[in-house]
Amino acid sequence: MRRKKIVVLGGGISGYGSAILAKKQGFEVFLSDKGKIADRYKRKLEEWGVPYEEGSHDEERILAASEVIKSPGIPDKAPMVQQIRERGIPVISEMEFAARYMGKARTICITGSNGKTTTTSLIYKILSDAGYKVALGGNIGESFAYSVATGQYDWYVLELSSFQLDGMYRFRAHIGVLMNITPDHLDRYDYCFQNYVNSKMRITQNQTSRDWFIYSGDDEVIWGEVSKRMLRGRQLPFAAKCQTVSGYGDGYADGRRLVVEVGRQRLTLNTEKMQIRGLHNCYNAMAASLAALAAGVSPAKIRRSIYAFSPVEHRLEPVREVENVLWINDSKATNVDSVWYALESMTRPVVWIAGGTDKGNDYEPLKAFAREKVHTLICMGLDNRKLIDSFTGVVPEVVSTSSLDEAMQAARQAARGGDVVLLSPACASFDLFQNYEQRGQLFKEWVKTHL
Ligand code: ADP
Repeated sequence: MRRKKIVVLGGGISGYGSAILAKKQGFEVFLSDKGKIADRYKRKLEEWGVPYEEGSHDEERILAASEVIKSPGIPDKAPMVQQIRERGIPVISEMEFAARYMGKARTICITGSNGKTTTTSLIYKILSDAGYKVALGGNIGESFAYSVATGQYDWYVLELSSFQLDGMYRFRAHIGVLMNITPDHLDRYDYCFQNYVNSKMRITQNQTSRDWFIYSGDDEVIWGEVSKRMLRGRQLPFAAKCQTVSGYGDGYADGRRLVVEVGRQRLTLNTEKMQIRGLHNCYNAMAASLAALAAGVSPAKIRRSIYAFSPVEHRLEPVREVENVLWINDSKATNVDSVWYALESMTRPVVWIAGGTDKGNDYEPLKAFAREKVHTLICMGLDNRKLIDSFTGVVPEVVSTSSLDEAMQAARQAARGGDVVLLSPACASFDLFQNYEQRGQLFKEWVKTHL
């Protein structure tokens, strides 16, 4: 019998892991990346004897594949992908491929427009603190496929972007978590919100009545979808504003307390004892608690891990308090919705640093909090017109700057004792920085060296 030929497109974290797993499963495998492959991945590929190319695509070799595993960063519109599809060769994601070989292990999959990384990290911490054999993967941690190839785990906690979900067909999330759905990445969904919504709802596909579906009951888009679809998974909604009811359990806010129930297990959390703050983090904590209860962790252990969990880097991360001014790095807030939650959680007057590469933002939803809490908006970007137009007259002072140093100097001047200086950009970082991590890193370094 001829061996199945697997081609992996993209040599980043998802691609190298898939290639190694394919090799381990005895397939003929070839990895192709049009750009450069990082040295550490090349070394791994060589160690495992996986042939690869970089800088171009060998079309003939690629089109001879029986199946293609595409990295989530490569858009469907890429000419190579279109050619593959025209030939009728199945294109799947790393998740779809790796799940075939994970045996009896179970998955907890987290998706949504915002809150994925925080909730995924929180669930991973709870399960590992509780002594579970658990791996972290998807958009964070190690490659899922690599963990399947090289480790022995009972649980995989996976952060899934909509791009990963798009390449998943038979994959089944034993516990699926959907945080929220707000417009994002529409450029890759033909500017049609419903296409993006459908992609996120794939988190429920193939679920059976033994699986769990955890979702926000405060999110109208999700509600609409849940009532429209025949979902098989046992539903566990969480909400802070709406009343939600499910026979299986739910999470809700009761003043400063969060109450989370699954079956007969009940957990209460005091939000003042949590290090992660704000309404959005209440959602993240409720979602994580529901997932952990569904996975069988005891309420006492969950509570302990949540109280010990500190914010993930670049997500409302307190950097330093100097002369009674608290500097907060929220560089990961690259869309309007995440800034809404950042401003919502502010309890002190705010100097707000925002701006960068605009992704078609509508700033209207931010105006009420800006009016109430922000006294100075510092725009930091190469083109600040839209921000200036949107917030002039809403915020008393609007300052335009075009570099980090200029923005930070302006923030220092504007801040008074008792204030917060909040970097929460609502925009991508590519005009002035390599990525949001570098933006956050430079913000932190500036605070530490200049203050
Ligand atoms: P993701 O991985 O989905 O981008 P993160 O946990 O990295 O989510 O958080 C990204 C940004 O979104 C943070 O800056 C944070 O302020 C905001 N955020 C976090 N959780 C939520 C939530 N549940 N709803 C809305 N915004 C959130």
